[in-house]
Amino acid sequence: MSEAMEKCSKATDDDLRKELAFLVERERRNLAALLTTMGEYSYRRLYRDEGYYSMFEYCLRALKFDESSAYRHITAARVVRQYPEALPMIASGDLPLTSVLVLAPVLTEENRKQMFKDAKGKTRRELETMVAGLSPLPPRMDYVQRLPATPSAWAPLDANAATTGPLGEAPPGALEPVPGRMPQEWQAVMPVSLDRVRIGFDAAVGLMTLVDRARQVLRHKHPEGRLGDVLTEALEVFLDRKDPQKRLGLKPGEAGNAFAPASRPLAEPRFLTAWRGGRYIAARVKRAVWQRDDGRCAWRFEDGRLCGSRDALEFDHFRPFAKGGRSDDARNVRLLCRLHNGLAAKAAGLSPEGASSPDGLGAAGRCPAAGTPAGVGGPA
Ligand SMILES: [Zn+2]
Repeated sequence: MSEAMEKCSKATDDDLRKELAFLVERERRNLAALLTTMGEYSYRRLYRDEGYYSMFEYCLRALKFDESSAYRHITAARVVRQYPEALPMIASGDLPLTSVLVLAPVLTEENRKQMFKDAKGKTRRELETMVAGLSPLPPRMDYVQRLPATPSAWAPLDANAATTGPLGEAPPGALEPVPGRMPQEWQAVMPVSLDRVRIGFDAAVGLMTLVDRARQVLRHKHPEGRLGDVLTEALEVFLDRKDPQKRLGLKPGEAGNAFAPASRPLAEPRFLTAWRGGRYIAARVKRAVWQRDDGRCAWRFEDGRLCGSRDALEFDHFRPFAKGGRSDDARNVRLLCRLHNGLAAKAAGLSPEGASSPDGLGAAGRCPAAGTPAGVGGPA
């Protein structure tokens, strides 16, 4: 075990927390300094003195970056050289490297202030949507492409192309990606306009058998057999069967849909008189809880923030069933994501296994017997 690892393994929880925060802060400051230095180094074309044709090549060979990382850093260095006001934001974490890359193609002298301001606190997806709104891409036809067996898809296409586009040679305002063999950073979903996204992923060849069969089945409805139509149809059928929200009889807009406000006020059914005992949570209680918690994890962190996750939700007894907590009172039941249900169970001295059911919400009669000590979380 290395010295650092040994130090870590012996640190207290609190020390680890502090150390982590310190390291992240330092990494951001370092990133800002690295980009500044790279920008100046490239501007002076010092890589030539060391025998490299381009900053990109220098990054790959001398600095041992991988292609994606070289591309990201060179692009970002170019941005901060042109718009130094981005530096303090990068150093403080308000503008992650990814955000710089998303903004890079659309930044101008005129919009930079507003763009940096708008970027603060936005997720990558939100930022991409904002950028897509500014410069929509044209729709693209479906395509299926067979990939090489080995992951060498980024091999140089052209030795000369690979060495073009050094950072220092870019004319002011030219922020397009460095041309050549640079990989476009991989991402599964990219907004291309305000109401369209481009989805891309690699899959086993067998998926095409499924897609082709689904196309045949849906031919009457979608004669063109477009992937988007076929997958939409398939996912709707899937969610009809598997989505707990649907199984509880809630319409998509009622809860758990960020784009549609609750269409009717929260139902507070009077079931307090119907206490029958048992762990079984009646569907009406589940519905009320789901609506009240808006189809999100109701866990609150110490600073009061809500977890809000919609993933792997489970019903949790606020006061554990094993300790007399009722199952027929929505006030004693809340939605928790699997992670937080496990944490709640742990805090209540129950095993995490007992706190979650394999299919989460569907396990009527096996609902989690987990709870949480007073003061930790609770239904909003
Ligand atoms: Zn959660």
